[in-house]
Amino acid sequence: MTTEPKPYTYRIIRSAKRRTVAIHIKANEVTVRAPTTLALAVIHRFVDQRHDWILKTLAKDRSQPVVNFQDGALLPIGGKLTRMVLVTGSSGDIKLGGDVLIIPVSNRVKYPHRYALKQLDTWLERRATAVLSEQVFSAANSIGCGSRLTRITYKVTRSKWGHCTHAGVIQLHPRIMMAPPEIQHYLVAHEVAHLRHMNHSGAFWETVARLDPSYKVHRQWLKDHQHATLLLSASD
Ligand SMILES: [Zn+2]
Repeated sequence: MTTEPKPYTYRIIRSAKRRTVAIHIKANEVTVRAPTTLALAVIHRFVDQRHDWILKTLAKDRSQPVVNFQDGALLPIGGKLTRMVLVTGSSGDIKLGGDVLIIPVSNRVKYPHRYALKQLDTWLERRATAVLSEQVFSAANSIGCGSRLTRITYKVTRSKWGHCTHAGVIQLHPRIMMAPPEIQHYLVAHEVAHLRHMNHSGAFWETVARLDPSYKVHRQWLKDHQHATLLLSASD
């Protein structure tokens, strides 16, 4: 057995209910879930045997780094990279000028980065309301589902871009405004198509294709990039 130091560390989470060992990799972190009574040596051996797989998965994971929200970081808005500048001690609206995004941060807040991220989400939501709501209405009308649409909401979640309920409520993630316009449009097409089909059947994808003929490319793009935007987090 190799005793070489590993290029990663892992955290072990034990649970009495567990019967098997499993490795999870998310956001560059390796977590091993194991039954409470299983010997540590057995767990380490299990991880050793999956060394190559872990490295491969981590490499894939690292190609999509979690964007750390901080002053000076590069952030895409509408698919174009902008540099964030946090201006402390000022108030007012976020301003996008050329490739600089100015975020005013009051000096009364305890966690400036978290505050700035919240401001950004609110700003993105306003942009989404101005741009996407109109697209949702016209897409719904164009497939004859205008009357099924009851409401459009925007919500920051850590797991999904959009959602459509049986009651006809379409929910979109404000951070979709960070993606290029054609990707925003794909998300609209996807959720609107759910007004007609509440599943991911062939018929559903045919409806998506009517609204967005290049949906396959756009769907893949969103899968490849969701890590960085959905998990955007502020660390202060
Ligand atoms: Zn769906």
